[in-house]
Amino acid sequence: MSTIEQRIADNVARVRQGIADAAARSGRRADEVALIAVSKYVGAAEIDALLAAGCRDFGENRPQDLWRKAEEFHGRPIRWHMIGHLQRNKVRRTLPLVTLLHAGDSWRLLEAASQHLQQSGQVLEVLIEVNVSGDAAKTGLGPEEVEPLLPRIADLPQLRVRGLMAMARWGGTLDDARGDFVRLRELRDRLAASCPPQVALRELSMGMSGDFEVAIEEGATLVRVGSALFEGVDR
Ligand SMILES: *Cc1c(COP(=O)(O)O)cnc(C)c1O
Repeated sequence: MSTIEQRIADNVARVRQGIADAAARSGRRADEVALIAVSKYVGAAEIDALLAAGCRDFGENRPQDLWRKAEEFHGRPIRWHMIGHLQRNKVRRTLPLVTLLHAGDSWRLLEAASQHLQQSGQVLEVLIEVNVSGDAAKTGLGPEEVEPLLPRIADLPQLRVRGLMAMARWGGTLDDARGDFVRLRELRDRLAASCPPQVALRELSMGMSGDFEVAIEEGATLVRVGSALFEGVDR
């Protein structure tokens, strides 16, 4: 094994242990939380090492990077997750490559996505991104915008809503992050009580390298972890 492979294998094992411990603290099994390996910082060698370490779900936040890597790794057992903002003019090339769109952050994007997918018949699973921290710099729907939009999103024929996604505020403490994650979970619970039958809000995509354990304690089912997988690796 090369040094890169060994380091990444060790990092993946450490993150998986952290996931398992945090899941246990929230009374869940480790396999109820999926690790999305965020590969946006790295190239082919590191992605190969992640695959060798058993990772199958990969996250990219820039469409052009996702296109390139999806082509490079065509035929390999990778599920690609679009975790960053997607402009409408990139919908056509991006959606056929993607397993789950995490950043469903506006009505205009979701409507454009559904319209485009009608041509191919593809049905896409999406999460609705919510700006729970109120950071002006962050994308996502305001928490109060989600409920009135849900019935309209539910009626978009090519989309299946699976849950919500959020990021903790920039530069906050772990307690701040926990507060943001609690807000997302509480919003989900409130919406789930009244949402249209074709909408499922099972998934909560929240938690990154610095706060994924807290996110799992507060109910995350998908964690998006990048930097922690590449510690000790020059990139
Ligand atoms: C980069 C990124 C991550 C991963 O961040 P790390 O702190 O490196 O784990 C997670 N989610 C989104 C949306 C990102 O852009």
